[in-house]
Amino acid sequence: AQERYASLVDKPATTRCGQTIALNMNAGLMADLPSLPSSGAEGVGLFRTELQFLIRNQMPKRAELSALYARVMDAADGKRVAFRTLDIGSDKVLTYMKPNDEPNPAMGWRAIRVGLDKPGVLRMQLQALIRAAAGRPLAVMFPFVAQLQEYRDARAEFDKAMERERRLGHPLPEKVEVGAMLETPSLAFAPDKFFEDVDFLSIGGNDLKQFFFAADRENERVRRRYDTLNVSFLAFLEQLIARCEALDTPVSFCGEDAGRPIEAVCFAALGLRSLSMRPASIGPVKHLLRQVDLGQVKAAMDAARDRGEQSVRHAVIEALRG
Ligand code: PEP
Ligand code: MG
Repeated sequence: AQERYASLVDKPATTRCGQTIALNMNAGLMADLPSLPSSGAEGVGLFRTELQFLIRNQMPKRAELSALYARVMDAADGKRVAFRTLDIGSDKVLTYMKPNDEPNPAMGWRAIRVGLDKPGVLRMQLQALIRAAAGRPLAVMFPFVAQLQEYRDARAEFDKAMERERRLGHPLPEKVEVGAMLETPSLAFAPDKFFEDVDFLSIGGNDLKQFFFAADRENERVRRRYDTLNVSFLAFLEQLIARCEALDTPVSFCGEDAGRPIEAVCFAALGLRSLSMRPASIGPVKHLLRQVDLGQVKAAMDAARDRGEQSVRHAVIEALRG
């Protein structure tokens, strides 16, 4: 199987019906970057910057971060890297930043909430990213945005950081994209203005699913209780994708489910054209995508829902068997 996937490295994930799906990889450490050419990924759809903070026992300095981000961009060799700003709190705790004493950390003071309330670290990180990108494109996204104003405030921090660099006479990125991660159902119902303002959206399926079903992703008792291919979750995604299409908002999906072939095919059938996953999943996902007709998959999904099935999984697997 490994050889079969290796032969696909330079081939696009184009379905039998002629749709090409962009497959990107998730990363978080310098050590992940060598997988970029070997996996056949188009770029890094999610770079989890908190991993750098988690492996240390003190706050990194801006110059260190900037050098690190520049090395990541060098290693990506012109391919797009979407840097996600710090997502700490929840399951990721920085001993040197705050004690973890919240009753419900996943729903607590985490991610962009921390970044906006105590903007020192966010500002430092944005400056480091802007400096690292000097003369080349920069893509940044904010984690766990739950409402329009949070995106506006975070974007204002980014714009201020750009302005500061300009005033200092530092070279700026060649172009910037500032996006948001959609990880709470609320954001899918934000005003149109949000979808128009944001440069791109990335669906963080791991968190989105835990909040959609109110099922803790860390709790073994419940985390597998609800199928990602549950018709309710798919209906939610379908509406969201249609909204993004109508409002011209580029959207991708970067949760673990994007790396599962059946799930990936269903997401593509709902209209997603960009997925990001762990590098080892790219081969298997591409292999299956290249064999499917998305219209057929969609018909099987709709038929299963109309028959009152809870999950479309069985119907889709049957349809793929042909
Ligand atoms: C997600 O929530 O789907 C996601 C990609 O972010 P993380 O897994 O780091 O929370
Ligand atoms: Mg998340």
